[in-house]
Amino acid sequence: MTGLEQSAEGDDYPPLSALNHLLFCERRCALLRIDRVWVDNVHTIGGTVAHHRAHEVSERSRSSHQVICGLRLVSRRLRLTGVADVVEFLRPNPDLRETPFPVEYKHGRRKRWDNDDVQLCAQAICLEEMLGVDVPAGAIYHVKSRGRRRVEFSTELRSKTERAAGRLHALLAAGRIPAPELKPRCRGCSIRGVCLPEIFSRPDRVEQLARGLFKANLSDPSTSTP
Ligand code: SF4
Repeated sequence: MTGLEQSAEGDDYPPLSALNHLLFCERRCALLRIDRVWVDNVHTIGGTVAHHRAHEVSERSRSSHQVICGLRLVSRRLRLTGVADVVEFLRPNPDLRETPFPVEYKHGRRKRWDNDDVQLCAQAICLEEMLGVDVPAGAIYHVKSRGRRRVEFSTELRSKTERAAGRLHALLAAGRIPAPELKPRCRGCSIRGVCLPEIFSRPDRVEQLARGLFKANLSDPSTSTP
């Protein structure tokens, strides 16, 4: 069985993108993975368009080196599966084996946090496991700024990726949705209208709203018993 055939395994593993969601916000990750909540906004739609674009770009790149789009990935060590937008197979020297170089397409500019780097590093760990080769680096292509940023898979980034995978599995095994924390990143979150961090991050506000609801029901004659 070749490494690429092995990637058909792991159907019950969570997706690599869940690491990105986890590092962005554990509540968002739990709502998506446990309660199956999904709402699109301009950022999520932009992300989908970026993934389509990855396929167009790789078609044009095929003459210089081998490129595989939409390669299915799996890691037994991380217990994750997913799909790589693009994997370029570079051969710096005819005597050397090809080195996979994963490229992940992202809609926006580089963010302040390194969720994208962790997701890309998890792809590299999958490729190493599947193909038995070292994957020292990859890149994020930021569609908005049209910039390709090289990411080295350092020991530190690999440890962070393994820790994130461990936290993800613990979160899913616990099956509980963490409480919200109202932060600047909530502004761009597509599920803010479901999460309601302005309300649920403040127990006093929840209590106040519940009291108001109870009073409203008591004063409504249509809800009183005859
Ligand atoms: S709105 Fe904020 S707290 Fe709620 S899921 Fe999104 S990022 Fe997390």
